[in-house]
Amino acid sequence: MRPARALIDLEALRHNYRLARSRHGGRAFAVVKANAYGHGAVECARALAAEADGFAVAFLDEALQLRAAGITHPILLLEGVFDAAELDEVVRHQLWTVVHHDPQIEMIESRALSAPLHVWLKVNSGMNRAGFLPDRVRGAWQRLNDTGKVSDIALMTHFARADEPDVATTAEQIAAFDAGTRDLPGLRSLANSSAILGWPDAHRDWGRPGILLYGADPMPEENHGLLPVMTLESQIMAVRDIPAGAVLGYGGRFVAEVPTRVGLVAMGYADGYPRSAPEGTPVAVDGKLTRLIGRVSMDMMTVDLTDLPDAGIGSRVELWGRQISINRIAAGVGTISYELLCNVKRVRFEYL
Ligand code: PLP
Repeated sequence: MRPARALIDLEALRHNYRLARSRHGGRAFAVVKANAYGHGAVECARALAAEADGFAVAFLDEALQLRAAGITHPILLLEGVFDAAELDEVVRHQLWTVVHHDPQIEMIESRALSAPLHVWLKVNSGMNRAGFLPDRVRGAWQRLNDTGKVSDIALMTHFARADEPDVATTAEQIAAFDAGTRDLPGLRSLANSSAILGWPDAHRDWGRPGILLYGADPMPEENHGLLPVMTLESQIMAVRDIPAGAVLGYGGRFVAEVPTRVGLVAMGYADGYPRSAPEGTPVAVDGKLTRLIGRVSMDMMTVDLTDLPDAGIGSRVELWGRQISINRIAAGVGTISYELLCNVKRVRFEYL
């Protein structure tokens, strides 16, 4: 059997959720959109079911997948509904939905609903991606309330730069949110992972931790005690000695300066390991650090075994996880851990 696999440590997931909840206080949605950031939404939600207050997903289908798996918690649709017909499903499955622009209010106005909705009204406090500007929130709240179809209107916003502790944007967004929602009743939710870790002023009734649940610290320069949940690993499938001067792999990117022992690893960009990983990207072989050499191919990649004489066919290769920080790999390819995690596919998923 091909040895490429993603080991998912569900105890680490639970540890990270507990940490998020206790740092934030109050309640916390476990954000499991995008298949739980690539970790498996159903497995992660089930693992958290005993302690999570609720879950957040992007859209209806993701919520229905959790309901079909027996998850009965509150589930929040972060993008809200795309058409009025989706509201019937929202009601039928007792989902909570974000309302972030006027057309969604119109959908509620236009649809006869069999039960009242639980709505989270989104404030655009400065990110300018989605939500009502602070001076429009009261009007949107009133319009929603006037539909007579809404039982609860909670209030939320999302931060653009909460992972940057020295940037004033987050404090400004909190102030803008508070100004726009002053005197409005209802629960509040402001904090994503980095705000849970770094912005206590943003801690209100519900937190919305995503990436931190998976143990990829959005502010890795501080140690917050998160545990990596996914370990992406494979094995050495073949070994080859190449002489000094030999080139290796597509494009001849790597040229051996000295005789080099090359380990061929069953893992490639079709599995989600980034093709753009540069020469020297760290990997761990049987727990020992070494480096990627040559370009990552679709199904395979090559690593330097020259200084690891004990390594051979069957040696375990960690690409990221407990030993190799995913943040390190992401930084090396100019992206963030989120994107790498969401892109893992084709490998076997094993839940611990
Ligand atoms: N809340 C909203 C509205 C989001 O879009 C996201 C993710 O993008 C989150 C919370 C979770 O963010 P993070 O993964 O940074 O904790």
